[in-house]
Amino acid sequence: MKTVLITGASRGIGRACAIAFAKCNYNVVINYLNSEAAALKLHRDLANLGCSSIVYKADVSNSFQVNNMFEHVFSQFGHVDVLVNNAGISQQCLFTDISEEDFRRMIDVNLVGTFNCCKAVLPSMIKRKSGSIINVSSIWGITGASCEVHYSAAKAGIIGLTKSLAKEVGPSGIRVNCVAPGVIETDMNANLSESDKATLADCTPLLRLGTPEEVAGVICFLASDKASFITGQVISPNGGFLI
Ligand code: NAD
Repeated sequence: MKTVLITGASRGIGRACAIAFAKCNYNVVINYLNSEAAALKLHRDLANLGCSSIVYKADVSNSFQVNNMFEHVFSQFGHVDVLVNNAGISQQCLFTDISEEDFRRMIDVNLVGTFNCCKAVLPSMIKRKSGSIINVSSIWGITGASCEVHYSAAKAGIIGLTKSLAKEVGPSGIRVNCVAPGVIETDMNANLSESDKATLADCTPLLRLGTPEEVAGVICFLASDKASFITGQVISPNGGFLI
């Protein structure tokens, strides 16, 4: 049986990924940082689907915690077939209001977190000559967002990391891809007013925001054998918002 580790899996896109992979018969590692109750509920929900899962608290920006998490997972499931670097934070403010601390935290969680997890999983994937990594960026990492300069920079960094790592580890049989979602209905966008959401939907050719399940579907596809010749790519489920 294959094993997937999903960072930031207790809610939103990460939770939808956990359920989608469980339905594809994967063992699932649910990484979380704060929401223990939500992570444990997901663990129970996956058990009801007949899926084995592990719940593990770790801050992806902390390499010590990440390495301990992977050691634990290797001892339980032997190896990890698929890594989904989903954990992320965002913040909306004027560039002139971004503190150095805000900027560093944004890069640390989104980009260094992705680096830490790739670094922890790759030796074992290289040894097995098999594996798939999916990194979660954003449309703003492609096109840039006003009032989200640090978020856009971190997400653009994830795209660069994906493309270069795909070239480096492709010869070892490992695929590395990226999803760059448009605006998706999750807690990350809870600060948007109904009128902001309506405006964003109006700017989207499909006239609505996306769902976490729609992003999870793309991530599962990229992890699957159906995507066996796809690596180093950025796929953007965005309803046509960015074409
Ligand atoms: P979310 O806020 O619901 O989920 C993010 C998850 O990451 C949370 O569970 C959070 O606890 C976890 N997390 C944050 N910091 C962490 C850390 N240091 N270590 C471990 N976990 C941590 O939002 P979401 O929309 O589900 O976001 C998932 C991913 O999708 C993020 O990378 C986000 O940037 C990206 N994304 C979201 C949207 C959107 O519109 N919602 C669009 C594009 C990209």
